[in-house]
Amino acid sequence: MDAQNLDVGQEIEAPPHVTIKGILGLLMGSIDCNNDSKKVISLGIGDPTAHSCFYTTSAAQEAVVRSLRSAKFNGYAPTVGLPQTRRALAGYLSRDLPYELSLDDVYVTAGCTQAIEIALTILTRPGANILLPRPCFPIYGLCAAFRNLEIRHFDLLPEKGWEVDLNAVEDLADHNTVAMVIINPGNPCGNVYTYQQLKKIAEVAKRLGIAVIADEVYGHLAFGANPFVPMGVFGSIAPVLTLGSLSKRWLVPGWRLGWLVTNDPDGILKSPKFVERLKKYCDICGGPATFIQAAVPAIIEETQEFFFRKTINMLRLTSDICYNKINEIRCLSCPRKPEGSMAFMVKLNISVLKDIGDDLDFCFKLAKEESVIILPGLAVGLKNWLRITFAVEPSLLEEALERVNRFCERHSSQQNGY
Ligand SMILES: *Cc1c(COP(=O)(O)O)cnc(C)c1O
Repeated sequence: MDAQNLDVGQEIEAPPHVTIKGILGLLMGSIDCNNDSKKVISLGIGDPTAHSCFYTTSAAQEAVVRSLRSAKFNGYAPTVGLPQTRRALAGYLSRDLPYELSLDDVYVTAGCTQAIEIALTILTRPGANILLPRPCFPIYGLCAAFRNLEIRHFDLLPEKGWEVDLNAVEDLADHNTVAMVIINPGNPCGNVYTYQQLKKIAEVAKRLGIAVIADEVYGHLAFGANPFVPMGVFGSIAPVLTLGSLSKRWLVPGWRLGWLVTNDPDGILKSPKFVERLKKYCDICGGPATFIQAAVPAIIEETQEFFFRKTINMLRLTSDICYNKINEIRCLSCPRKPEGSMAFMVKLNISVLKDIGDDLDFCFKLAKEESVIILPGLAVGLKNWLRITFAVEPSLLEEALERVNRFCERHSSQQNGY
């Protein structure tokens, strides 16, 4: 029998959206394997665990080992998460809020990625649209496309430190808009929003009658002038869905432990129908491994401040190296020093290069000639920009940027004096 109704590969295509992993895979594939003199250095992916200076704390590792050895967590957890895990996360997140979250506000997810998927899915209804920043972490666009959720982009303004173009937000929204997405600290921009900026965002969301999806996967990874303020602080202005995970702050993206939290002291998101929908969708998703969930209370309790400070200091150091070096490279410029997260955006000045067409061409030639991987801005929605990840060993970072410099000089339209 032919499966006539299954047009897999013919009619049904993946959404045309690029993914970071997809583009980085292509770039890796284009590296000249005969070039053994050059070790491949990636400033592409945001997985800091490739570098020994970004290593998780033993407190977290021991908590997981104890949890596993106890043999108490080999079974299923409730699909919304173990109660002790939800309670511990509610306590952890409430430290920075003017009100207390309860365990019922917290849904434990398989990393922040699954929290994104759940948030977008439960908000979708026929005809709905969502407002995404440009540039954006590409999973949002991809997930919205799979859900047939219409995407509308508002700009983040580089000349204003990647502030949200709130006028654009107001112009884009209509009665079918369900939410806007804010990523703070920013990926891909490396910015950190101020208290006042976040408050204004909440006020606009209130006027529009929409929710704010606050991606705080880089929560607390702020090392510039602006301290990290969670969007949930403004949960009584507009309802906030906060998304996060252990992945970045604890440097364990492989553990797949994340959360979706309703920051909504006035209970707009706690309508029985909404909660029912959320819980049912969690039944489909499953969530992270039970023994990892069970380790969360001890991970939060036993992680020393020293570990967090060490990570912050390292990110400040590597982002400084990056910023200073980038500003010495003729074809690149950076509108804003990174202040948070693990990546930032750098502008590519194509006009000073003689044989490079655009950011994609730049990244492919750079990979081939210098074995350095950088994400083209196109992957996050900004053509002729680059996203550079600085969660990289300092010496490798310097070596990689030196190679970028040589590459730019070689392809420069005006040779530097010789
Ligand atoms: C890394 C990242 C995620 C995904 O986090 P996981 O916990 O690894 O699933 C989500 N959003 C942003 C902005 C990220 O950088």
